[in-house]
Amino acid sequence: MATPKLFLRPGHDKPVRRHHPWIFSGAVARIGGQPDDGDIVEVYSSQGEWLARGYLNRRSQIVVRLLTWDREEAIDESFWHRRIDRAVRARASLGLESVTDAYRLVFAESDWIPGLIVDRYADFLVLQCLTLGIERRKELLVRLLAERCRPAGIFERSDRDMREKEGLAPAEGVRWGVEPPDRLVIQEYGHRFRVDVRRGHKTGFYLDQRENRRRTASYLAGRRVLNAFSYTGAFAVWALAAGARHVVNLDSAADVLSEAAVNLTLNGYPESSFECVEGDAFRVLRAFRSSGRRFDAVILDPPKFAFSQAHLQRATRGYKDINLQALHLLEPGGILATFSCSGLVSADLFQKIVFAAAEDAGREVQILERLGQPPDHPIRLSFPEGEYLKGLICRVW
Ligand code: SAH
Repeated sequence: MATPKLFLRPGHDKPVRRHHPWIFSGAVARIGGQPDDGDIVEVYSSQGEWLARGYLNRRSQIVVRLLTWDREEAIDESFWHRRIDRAVRARASLGLESVTDAYRLVFAESDWIPGLIVDRYADFLVLQCLTLGIERRKELLVRLLAERCRPAGIFERSDRDMREKEGLAPAEGVRWGVEPPDRLVIQEYGHRFRVDVRRGHKTGFYLDQRENRRRTASYLAGRRVLNAFSYTGAFAVWALAAGARHVVNLDSAADVLSEAAVNLTLNGYPESSFECVEGDAFRVLRAFRSSGRRFDAVILDPPKFAFSQAHLQRATRGYKDINLQALHLLEPGGILATFSCSGLVSADLFQKIVFAAAEDAGREVQILERLGQPPDHPIRLSFPEGEYLKGLICRVW
């Protein structure tokens, strides 16, 4: 049976020709045949020219995610094998193995496997199946990953909100091999961290901040550090390892703070070297200011504030406020390491936000380093949406 054909509306073929992987519902003129959601469709221009091939889901605003622009390339088992192999080989070539056993193996669209994320944590793989097209092929993909990577186990921990947009129920559990332990221990440049792949954020750990923690730590020797939005204390461990005098972890979640304390202890840092403060960063930073508390470095790594264009203004205000409060707490010559993981906030906009905060705080600020995503979270030129993380290391006067 011939693969169903999808015809684009006039003027909607350009992104497809440029290898952007998404087709939005508004771009579709008609779908021939009667494909099921999850099936492969052939994408044609309004003129009837073959353009690409991908999987369908009418329940999502992104009705097709494209897999290939090569008419000869069939979407069969060997296709998925080649794509996984390419992603895994690319990671192997990064030399990560000698510095960490935790990194992203497959980064969805950015690795030409839309909807699939795979993170490695020591002997385990944690995967996210975020689309119906991937869900339908999950068994095959799990088997291919098991054969290619030989992990002890593969655990699924898929993001609920993303699955909901695809009309999929939540999914979590062992998909292959043995159950991961309650806490896995990974290492990052010799530092050890406990990771809870069941209840932790994302798939358990902020792998995307690895190189940024390293860069930030290089400025922290001898400093009193405020690690705001600390999560399980990864920046704190790096800071003390780099010779920081003292670290305050601040987070609104009590459970992640106790994990931060465990991680600091695990790496050999005495309780006198750190403090854990539970509270809303927006309030606690203000309270620190009014009580006259000062720091020589502040790390700001908040969660995503901007989820849609409609949230962008509010998110911008949030970033500005938190940066303003942090600037108030810094001694002259202090270091501000500030991040945003909202894809909708560009690096340029983020710099402008920090500038606006500096103006309001009456402080002069120098950018020492601009930070982004590590190479295991690559940004595909034809898919700029894959870029989300940005940061600035600044000196504040
Ligand atoms: N820097 C961390 C990751 C931070 S994730 C690392 O390298 O591992 C963001 C953290 O911010 C989460 O732990 C979340 O609990 C916390 N958080 C979210 N909103 C907050 C708020 N208003 N005040 C303080 N912490 C908050």
